[in-house]
Amino acid sequence: MELCTYKISIAGTVQGVGFRPFIYTLAQRYLVTGTVSNNSNGVEMILNADRLTLKQFLIAVEYEYPPLACIDSIKHKEITYQIFDDFQIVETKDKGDISVNIPPDVSICTECEKELFDPKNRRYEYPFINCTHCGVRYSIVYDLPYDRSHTSMKFFQMCKACESEYTNPLDRRYHAQPIGCHDCGPRLKLMDNKGQLTQFTTNEIDKTVTLLEEGKIVAIKGIGGYHLICDASNKDAVTKLRKRKNRPRKPFAVMVLNMNMARDLAFISMIEEELLVSKERPIVIVKMKEMHSSVISPNISRIGLFLPYTPLHLLLLDKLKRPIVATSANITDEPICTNLESLQKLQGVYDYVLEHNRDIVNGCDDSVVMVVKEQQVMLRRARGYAPVRVKLPFSLKHTVLALGANQKSTISIGFDNHVILSPHIGDLDGIASVEYYEKNIETLQRVYSFKPEIIAYDKHPRYESTKVAFEILKSNENTVGKEVQHHYAHILAVMAEKQIRTKVFGVAFDGTGYGDDGRLWGGEFMVCDYEGYERVSHLEYFKLLGGVKAIKEPKRVALSLLFSLYGKEVLTLNNPTTKSFSSVELRAYYTTWQKGLNAPLSSSVGRLFDAVASLLGICQVMSFEGESGMMLEELFDISVKGCYAFGYENKKVDVLPLLDEILQEKDISIAVTKFFNTLVEIIARVYEPYDLPLVLSGGVFQNRVLLGLVLERFPDAIISNMIPPNDGGISLGQIMATIHTSRS
Ligand SMILES: [Zn+2]
Ligand SMILES: [Zn+2]
Repeated sequence: MELCTYKISIAGTVQGVGFRPFIYTLAQRYLVTGTVSNNSNGVEMILNADRLTLKQFLIAVEYEYPPLACIDSIKHKEITYQIFDDFQIVETKDKGDISVNIPPDVSICTECEKELFDPKNRRYEYPFINCTHCGVRYSIVYDLPYDRSHTSMKFFQMCKACESEYTNPLDRRYHAQPIGCHDCGPRLKLMDNKGQLTQFTTNEIDKTVTLLEEGKIVAIKGIGGYHLICDASNKDAVTKLRKRKNRPRKPFAVMVLNMNMARDLAFISMIEEELLVSKERPIVIVKMKEMHSSVISPNISRIGLFLPYTPLHLLLLDKLKRPIVATSANITDEPICTNLESLQKLQGVYDYVLEHNRDIVNGCDDSVVMVVKEQQVMLRRARGYAPVRVKLPFSLKHTVLALGANQKSTISIGFDNHVILSPHIGDLDGIASVEYYEKNIETLQRVYSFKPEIIAYDKHPRYESTKVAFEILKSNENTVGKEVQHHYAHILAVMAEKQIRTKVFGVAFDGTGYGDDGRLWGGEFMVCDYEGYERVSHLEYFKLLGGVKAIKEPKRVALSLLFSLYGKEVLTLNNPTTKSFSSVELRAYYTTWQKGLNAPLSSSVGRLFDAVASLLGICQVMSFEGESGMMLEELFDISVKGCYAFGYENKKVDVLPLLDEILQEKDISIAVTKFFNTLVEIIARVYEPYDLPLVLSGGVFQNRVLLGLVLERFPDAIISNMIPPNDGGISLGQIMATIHTSRS
């Protein structure tokens, strides 16, 4: 057949993932000549082949592409005939543009794992083994293009053996940027909490295993930050970690060696297993088998499990052969520690630190997911998944930087029909957090050479993210600001992920978010499209006694609702809520409630959960966010049917009748179950007249029981699977709100 020359363009995640060597190998197999190179859109090939060979070649590309690659499109056309002697990988010097992705960090692949445990391999037990199919990426990148000289690996000079692998297109480590070995790559160092090297540093891994066996707490430097680690089967060690970290009840994540160890601890469905062993290796929230390890997750039957994702963790667990508690090392209100200097503030918490000399450039927490009704629900999107590119249903007219919310914050940049969503950054509660947040904004923009024409931000005037938006706008005359209502952004985030183009009926059940009327919204029903939204119903406002204090103290919300129900009579009532106050306090709060002093109005379903938890004596003051909701999940009883009364008039949902009935209920489990059922009934009632797709979002839908019940009642309800329903999705939604914003 006649030989022709073809130009083939492949777009998608095809750089830094071993795509060119893959093409090179295919070219050898199909005996074709030509070149392959990276360009700003992906990968480009010039190929000499006959028509039939070309066809087979392209089928092979589609079926066999490397595991970390993701192909958006393959296009080919015939061009002027050229002559080639062989097939070559051609280097490109240009920086490329923003359509290229930074690949996320990926867990160790099976081939590297085999080599890690093969005594004959030169990387036997090398804790930083990696290849083009696995290993660190985002966390070590300073700049694009993703090249060794732009990563923290630039400080390590490759040895001869590594270099020959790195430069051989047929090797699995061809252009694996973090390549290294015992001779030339990063190394471990084991120190005590005063920074002194331990006496037995010949084998840091073995010594660390011994320390863990002895019940010590070891800070271990991972991919995106440090973990505090101890033996999960050692009650004293876990209790010590709780005391030192001042974390009395919040469940710890547990890392297990393999699926067998995971199954010893928990019931695991097929989908949960797929997530656990996936290349992203998130923490997966699963049902614990027995409550005996109560120190790991006091009073809560769910546990966050994950499998080792680095060779270092794998070596440790393979030798220890027990599950470990692995919790992010950070100081309250501060981001995850990414260097020894920040870690040292936790000296009192850990006994030893297992350190290494490869810098973490971009901090990145572990991702957290759960499965509800066979659907993946992302609770924290970070290591393995982020940064992520979301393809939009529309093109943006302008470049947009969206700054997210104040809690679980993320940032996004939008251009053309793409959004790049940052990993979870965290709560902006302290100076260090805000600095870290600003660093993330700077990094994302620098790496993608991005200049925003529009800045999208939350409506809340006191959010740190809003303040940052105003600072950027002040110093950039040509940039336009776009304020976006919080719950509208929640619904838009789902619409973006699911590429929805029509009007939807959105239910945003949330903690708090600033409303158009200055009230704290969070029980919202809105009809939305990309033009705007109409708030068609909401929970009747109630007062939050003590303002922000009410967020951590469910008893304040419950007391306020009791005042709404029974007025002054509350002072003589005897229930778990009133009992948690002194009579002096009750009288004082009655006055502030009557006068509305420091008692902002709210329609939040998150706070309603708190109130119910307090009224039933489940939780009066929370030790961590979401505690009341988790406790309520525990008491849910699927065999209980029926629900309580609620009012629905003038587009407002009145929950007071519901609370009145809860107080009369003798059985706490019945009360909790009927409360959940009532919430589903409320959604059904308000949604009933609308013939629109039902979209659910907001932090309250992280509640497994509520989400499960709503999805059972409305199997077609749309939730996001890749973007968190909590405030982690807000920045994406904010970008969508700017589609019709113009700069003039
Ligand atoms: Zn590998
Ligand atoms: Zn080497």
